[in-house]
Amino acid sequence: MTWRLHVDKTVCGATGMCAALAPDLFRLDEAYAEPVDAEIEPDELALDAADQCPTQAILVTENGREIGPRP
Ligand code: SF4
Repeated sequence: MTWRLHVDKTVCGATGMCAALAPDLFRLDEAYAEPVDAEIEPDELALDAADQCPTQAILVTENGREIGPRP
């Protein structure tokens, strides 16, 4: 099973929260965050980061189905 990570650069506020929470999954440059790898093994931290992103810029999908942020 593979998850895909996506950061919407148009809404990312560059807070760095995701990179602080999950540095193996997200990195921050000066303008926005991006996934370290677009495809990952399932990792609860990815969902936590998506949940906590203040601008809901992080999308986590599994087989094309949105699983994060959680409702
Ligand atoms: S937590 Fe959200 S707004 Fe902050 S850097 Fe990550 S993707 Fe951008």
